[in-house]
Amino acid sequence: MSLDYSTILISVGFSAAGLALAVLGGWLLVRSERFMLTWAVALVFIVGNVVAYGRHVSTPSPVMAWLSMVFLMVGFATIYGASVQFVRGVSPVVPSIRAAVPFVVGVSIPMVFGLDGIAFFIENAGAAILFFMTGIRYWTARAEAPAAITAIAILHGIVGFGFALCALMIALGGKVVLDGPPQNWAEDLSLVVGLVGMTGIGALSLSLTQWRLGARHRRDARTDPLTGLLNRRALFELFGSRPIEVGTAVIVFDLDHFKQINDNFGHAAGDEVLRRFAATLLRLSAPAGPELRAARLGGEEFALILPATPKQVALQMADLVRRRFAAEVFEAGQGTMNCTASAGVAVAESDSCTFEATLNAADRALYEAKSAGRDRTFPAPRPLLL
Ligand code: GH3
Ligand code: MG
Ligand code: MG
Repeated sequence: MSLDYSTILISVGFSAAGLALAVLGGWLLVRSERFMLTWAVALVFIVGNVVAYGRHVSTPSPVMAWLSMVFLMVGFATIYGASVQFVRGVSPVVPSIRAAVPFVVGVSIPMVFGLDGIAFFIENAGAAILFFMTGIRYWTARAEAPAAITAIAILHGIVGFGFALCALMIALGGKVVLDGPPQNWAEDLSLVVGLVGMTGIGALSLSLTQWRLGARHRRDARTDPLTGLLNRRALFELFGSRPIEVGTAVIVFDLDHFKQINDNFGHAAGDEVLRRFAATLLRLSAPAGPELRAARLGGEEFALILPATPKQVALQMADLVRRRFAAEVFEAGQGTMNCTASAGVAVAESDSCTFEATLNAADRALYEAKSAGRDRTFPAPRPLLL
């Protein structure tokens, strides 16, 4: 059985409609991924294109031809807008309109003069350009989920290539006025490539949506919501109870008399102090390099893990954070207030030193600092040779 062009066209229409429903379902499940909604809107335009073009194939009509072109340009420009939305998280409306306008104008002017050959050439070239632009957008963002996004980018390139071939065939035909829709092997090929490519892109986008959701949940499970720092679980996932590299410094901070701040100024004021401490910790420790880890261990306890840091340097860092934080002034009720912190510092000094043991040693030093009157930094009392 061989399929004629109209049959393939009808199947493209039905699969675009099915894909629109699937994509809409994907968006309903993960509302935050609004680019799926944009995709569903784009697919509605593409269904419009198939219906109008199908009418033009069965009974050639300039109005239907023009309408099909406009639907296709707007649909593909909307797919481009969806890619901008996916990559940059911005509204797709302006990028879609900016991408659609030149091509809608480009196909409309020749159609006004009855030059459908030129209009179909511009339509196919425009489709190719829009797909290449979309593919490039995804390509630049492939770091997020390399396999899926690279595949999406390549599929856009392939579909775009199909349209470029159609444009080339029309150009080689050299006719500015056609006596019906363009018909050649490139048209058949691009229809099939478009059908397979769009279905593949839709399916990959759906799985990407789920992947993003999972990644967000994983990130949330590792992040302290109040301060944005890593939480205790994340820190133990990173370092566990395995030995850590010799020379890794662990600093533990605990805010002093924090309960009184809550009691005197309210929980919200206490939360603000916690946020400010986290910000100070990050700001001052950032120069130590991207390898450092800052975490909220719980309550008003924080930890800083600094790889390859001599004890003296770690003590200086802890004391810098402590002094700067003590100098911060907080608005509270009618007046202002201060808060101080105590710190304990330990450095892993042997191959068998675990993260947990180093953290415990820093904790003991912190306890000593508290006992000695708070608002001070203490080193772990003896070399850690556990
Ligand atoms: P010390 O100087 O000995 O560390 O005294 P402290 O008052 O800081 O220590 P304590 O352990 O008695 O009190 C800690 C308080 O931290 C008690 C708890 O209500 C408060 N806290 C824990 N988590 C949060 C939080 O997320 N927000 C606020 N505002 N308070 C919290
Ligand atoms: Mg405390
Ligand atoms: Mg505490």
